[in-house]
Amino acid sequence: MKKKNSAAAAPPAGPNLFGEAPPPAPAKKDGLLAFSYSKMSLYEECPLKYKFKYIDKIKEEPKFYFAFGSAIHAALEFLYSVRNPPFPTLDEVCEAFRREWNLKSYLEKGYRTQQKSDDDYQKGLLMLKAYYEHNRARFAPPFLVEYATDVEVDGLLVRTISDRIEHLGGGEITIIDYKTGKDVRREPAQLYMYQKITELDPRLKEKIAETYGTRVNSVRIRELLYYHVPSNKEYTFARADDKEIGNFWERVLGVADSIRGLKFDPTPAERACSWCDYKALCPAFFGGHRHAPQPQFTAPGNIEVLVDRYGRLKEKMQEIQAELDKVAEDIGRSAKSGGEYAGNAFTASVSKSQKWAFPNREAVLGVLNQFDLYQKALDVTVAGLGRLLDSPDLAPDARQKLLEQAVRKTAVDIKIVKKGE
Ligand code: SF4
Repeated sequence: MKKKNSAAAAPPAGPNLFGEAPPPAPAKKDGLLAFSYSKMSLYEECPLKYKFKYIDKIKEEPKFYFAFGSAIHAALEFLYSVRNPPFPTLDEVCEAFRREWNLKSYLEKGYRTQQKSDDDYQKGLLMLKAYYEHNRARFAPPFLVEYATDVEVDGLLVRTISDRIEHLGGGEITIIDYKTGKDVRREPAQLYMYQKITELDPRLKEKIAETYGTRVNSVRIRELLYYHVPSNKEYTFARADDKEIGNFWERVLGVADSIRGLKFDPTPAERACSWCDYKALCPAFFGGHRHAPQPQFTAPGNIEVLVDRYGRLKEKMQEIQAELDKVAEDIGRSAKSGGEYAGNAFTASVSKSQKWAFPNREAVLGVLNQFDLYQKALDVTVAGLGRLLDSPDLAPDARQKLLEQAVRKTAVDIKIVKKGE
């Protein structure tokens, strides 16, 4: 938030953030426009957001899912950066993950708490372990790893970064893209961009000659593969035909023309705006009025006094919560499910139900990995795991393993009504 405030208070020299004066031309040297799939998709999401990020160069808040994804990518890059076997051991791969993870604090990675960061660290280790076991029998030195290239085409300098490229012989290649999110969405635009740029890249032919000692006349994508690391599932996509690529390229050139023409009008949309870090700078976000009042970020009064007051209230709340939990537990022990009880000032209806609890989180993550159940659990919460256990589709051996980690607990629900209300 601080970054946004300071940016709002002191916009970059020259044109202001709302485009009253033309911003510097978003071009690379030699008139080429620096372009990529992610730049295009951001522009299509909201041109003003693109401008804030790539032209005004206002940094976004760190996102924990990016930090998690890049640490997994770094570990896999380390694993495959071998010209000749043996491959690194699992411990060495986990160490590479740890090194990357520890480069930043939990806040710098975008986590709200140390605990959440630690949980994801453990999740990452389990994911790498499962990946290693699943793939170790077919480890082979790849053609290229984390291959970044900038290709000039139609006045653009287009950057692609491929996680891994395998050469199948005769200039035919497969590009592998690791996905570390919850699910894998087919993103045709990303696939088209890989295909178009990779096949135009002159360096690839040289790399094939250097690596395999054979010259090829052209490089051709045979297929593109998304590898979903959390589930060890592969999603393969055949190369696109010329018509699809042609239509896609028209779209790219249209976006590039709009950027060159400095068209940066905001396109507010519920989803895009709710995730946008530039709300405080955006005129559209405040009712569509260009000069609508900006929100106040400075707290009224003395901030140090407010911080202390906030801390004391928090402490008090924790004490009260602990006391409340204790009394509820005592009521649960004495009351019958479905019973109604009256005190002098309040009445209570008590109901009890059986719920699952999973005390050993790490062991549960291990079971989810082993049986490929991340998607089914949807989220590693007690409710999600409980639903999974109760699901009739769960395989018996997976249920058995999960049951070994589960304990049944009695949950007590107390509805309180003040007498006379
Ligand atoms: S708040 Fe919405 S309209 Fe404004 S820049 Fe962000 S995404 Fe665009």
